[in-house]
Amino acid sequence: MYRKNAWNKYSDKKPVMDFAEGYKDFISFGKTERLVAQESVEALRKAGFKELGEFSALHPGDKIYFVNKNKNIAAFILGKKPLTEGMRILGAHIDSPRLDFKENPFYEDHDFVLGDTHYYGGVKKYQWVTIPLALHGVVVKKDGTRVDVNIGEDPSDPVVGITDLLIHLSADQLSKPAAKVIEGEGLDVSLGSIPLDDEDKEPVKRNVLRILNEKYGVEEEDFISAEIEVTPAGKARDYGLDRSMVAGYGHDDRVCAYTSLKALLDTENPEFTSVCCLVDKEEIGSVGATGAQSLFFENVIAELLTRLGEQNVFLATRKAMENARMLSSDVSAGFDPLYASVNDPKNAAYFGQGLVFNKYTGRGGKSGSNDANPEYYAWVRKTMDEAGVHWQNAELGRVDQGGGGTIAYILGNYNMNVIDAGIAVHNMHAPMEIVSKVDVYEAYLGYKAFLIAE
Ligand code: MN
Ligand code: MN
Repeated sequence: MYRKNAWNKYSDKKPVMDFAEGYKDFISFGKTERLVAQESVEALRKAGFKELGEFSALHPGDKIYFVNKNKNIAAFILGKKPLTEGMRILGAHIDSPRLDFKENPFYEDHDFVLGDTHYYGGVKKYQWVTIPLALHGVVVKKDGTRVDVNIGEDPSDPVVGITDLLIHLSADQLSKPAAKVIEGEGLDVSLGSIPLDDEDKEPVKRNVLRILNEKYGVEEEDFISAEIEVTPAGKARDYGLDRSMVAGYGHDDRVCAYTSLKALLDTENPEFTSVCCLVDKEEIGSVGATGAQSLFFENVIAELLTRLGEQNVFLATRKAMENARMLSSDVSAGFDPLYASVNDPKNAAYFGQGLVFNKYTGRGGKSGSNDANPEYYAWVRKTMDEAGVHWQNAELGRVDQGGGGTIAYILGNYNMNVIDAGIAVHNMHAPMEIVSKVDVYEAYLGYKAFLIAE
């Protein structure tokens, strides 16, 4: 159903509200791509998915998953039709904007120890000060031991944070443009203020390193081979007096990851092979081994085809990719009445109107966009309407106002039919993002309908 408020579909709103509870748990735990990968694997295994090596032979209906370097997942339910006749792929990214510890983060200044960071993805830096922050990630020691770090989520844990200048002394600061009010090198996290002893050499820093060593068995140098991500602390919450929305960190793009994964988990014996692909590194250009540009997904298809007994794996892989259909799912800019002027109102995404399709994204004349073919878009519209899914169309703001990209064009490079789909978000890339619960639910229903569509 096109551009209708989806809440009116539900006289009983319980299914919508209940679905959001599962999602809130998912993002409250999944503060990093590794944690989302971890909880996704747990959910897949619980639903009977296994790694390829656990199968002696493959049959239609089999549920298989692959994990790439703990940060990137591809999960499949084999269809009745051969893989080369096409797949139905749901793709989303599981990395979110945040602040990463530098390789050499710790320094002491006037009896404070601070952690130096380099921000990851597009952030309005002024939004990251004076809020409770948590530390998540891994430190890998030279002997290969990996230590999981998690500080700031348990109510008994301390939190950390970044200071801002008091209003009383901000005359100079407040005359700067917003992009300069807080600068990248100023995003240093306060970590402690008690000296270890009365010796001169960095006693406060040595005390914090002692605490980290006691808790995790790591030395300062071990942070060179580490990924410590500074994220907002605390759980996702209901938002609005009517509880119609969810406030939380990392809706971009874990809201599409969760709904895509749930859609796959709730599918059985599809005609075409169902796929959910969760990728890392979208916020910095989909690069690297765990990003959408990695050969991981293609390699996995080749491996599956080999195990299925395919003779010409090269050609079969190309055919499987070319005949696939994909929803590249990522969040859309939700229309915000406070900032209405940045949108074209007839091509904007509205809270409550369901799953959002973007024929194209990009910036400055659609640059970097996949721009879906209308022949494919028509099939997608039909699929949504036949399933009674509420959906809408949007582009990312007014022409010349800015823009953004997604992973869609990367899979489009395989000559695959891909369209951008997703969920409207307020405060995109802020420490607290907002989504509508009914949009989350409609997206889940839309993804399920897509997986079984012929
Ligand atoms: Mn995104
Ligand atoms: Mn983003």
